[in-house]
Amino acid sequence: KNILSVKNLKKIYSNKQAGDNLALNDLNLDVKEGEIFGLLGPNGAGKTTFINILAGTVVKTAGRVSVWGFDLDKNPRQVRASVGIVPQEVNLDPFFSPRKLLELQAGLYGIKEKDRITDTILKLVSLEKQANSYARSLSGGMKRRLLMAKALVHQPPIVILDEPTAGVDVELRQNLWKNVKLLNELGVTIILTTHYLEEAEEMCGRIAILNKGNIVALDSTKNLLDRI
Ligand code: ADP
Ligand code: ADP
Repeated sequence: KNILSVKNLKKIYSNKQAGDNLALNDLNLDVKEGEIFGLLGPNGAGKTTFINILAGTVVKTAGRVSVWGFDLDKNPRQVRASVGIVPQEVNLDPFFSPRKLLELQAGLYGIKEKDRITDTILKLVSLEKQANSYARSLSGGMKRRLLMAKALVHQPPIVILDEPTAGVDVELRQNLWKNVKLLNELGVTIILTTHYLEEAEEMCGRIAILNKGNIVALDSTKNLLDRI
């Protein structure tokens, strides 16, 4: 069963000085409920643009996106409520604690049982000991886990991670992979972007390879690697 469906998605950034920039040409893909789907591609391929369209921060030029049958144009709120985004960049208020940050996020989504949800999610990402510490005192790995926690507060069925391990060391990478797999085992559908083949191979059941706004291959990880 498909949870996300993308048809003929196109994005052109218009810029008076620099001219038009075709970021997504004609993207077609379906993501199945419960899978870990990888979007693999070099810098500039269009991965972040795709995520930002789902997040609602970039407006598509053409095409259709739907989540569980909710159309992004007609039901943007339902689409956004179904998706949790873990951004690439760690951009946290240094003086907020994990607990404070998650409670604010819960407030944003109108969640009633703020304390219970916050406790559960802090436990899930192993930050219960740091619940009340300032974000600036957390290690790089803890900050990444906190970003993941933030994306989970409204309990979205799909979590999208933008280059989850870009620029992190081997140990932390393994740790993040473990956390993502755990989340998937809890029933969350995962989409991750990466430019590491090795990461896609380790994590994903299916992979789409994106290049210059076009999907150049889409298959199970096994089939894809057999062909390379
Ligand atoms: P990726 O995440 O795969 O590195 P992006 O989605 O960031 O790719 O970028 C795809 C293309 O769109 C690139 O050519 C990039 O320069 C361009 N692009 C991204 N954001 C903007 C923007 N705000 N304005 C103009 N062009 C952009
Ligand atoms: P990523 O590696 O995640 O794709 P980038 O470093 O390409 O991120 O982009 C960082 C920021 O710059 C983003 O907000 C993106 O929208 C913007 N950007 C990227 N390419 C362009 C471009 N050609 N013109 C204007 N803004 C751009």
